[in-house]
Amino acid sequence: MPIKNKNIIKTKLKKSYGRMDKLFGELEWWPADTAFEVILGSILTQNTSWRNVEKALANLKRERLLSPDKILKLPAKELAELIRPSGYNNLKATRLKEVCSFIINETGGDLLKFSKQPLKKLRDYFLSVKGVGPETADSIILYAFGKPVFVVDTYTKRIFSRHGIIKHEKIPYAEVQKIVHDNFPNKVKLLNQFHALIVETSKKFCLKNNPKCHVCPLNGL
Ligand code: SF4
Repeated sequence: MPIKNKNIIKTKLKKSYGRMDKLFGELEWWPADTAFEVILGSILTQNTSWRNVEKALANLKRERLLSPDKILKLPAKELAELIRPSGYNNLKATRLKEVCSFIINETGGDLLKFSKQPLKKLRDYFLSVKGVGPETADSIILYAFGKPVFVVDTYTKRIFSRHGIIKHEKIPYAEVQKIVHDNFPNKVKLLNQFHALIVETSKKFCLKNNPKCHVCPLNGL
């Protein structure tokens, strides 16, 4: 990438962060009490809104099922019923069981053991679990284990493409992530807040159709 373009991208990332942060303030993601809850949420949130995830998590909490061994012991049908509000509940029940089985096999249920792993190894671990793609793996790594990685999602690609940070929304996940890793501070706190700010901005202003640019903090970026 030519130096001039690199500087433009750096400036855009910095400015966009500053403007969104000024509007929204500290968003304190991820909304969860434990690393395991982040892992559950990152799978339940696939293809649905957070409001639906909250309902599914509330059901699991009510039944005191927030541990990998309890989820594993629960019959798949019962699990699917409890997480029904999150949609695709049979598929997600299978995925939750896959990830719980992986956690038990690798750590015996002690998630602290994952925290001690280097980022790349941890990422490879989670990517090896069926149903865990880059966005889910990176959400877990950043928000459950506090390691510096940028999470890319549809919202990120939409905002970045509309502001010339990437050429179009079909650019692969890894390329978008690399742009941020190369041009934005590699700090957990900032990467945590940046992704959260992008999601909030997109949901409130940068709609797929009819974006509300006239009231958006990124107008004229
Ligand atoms: S709403 Fe408009 S100004 Fe805001 S991020 Fe989207 S394209 Fe940019």
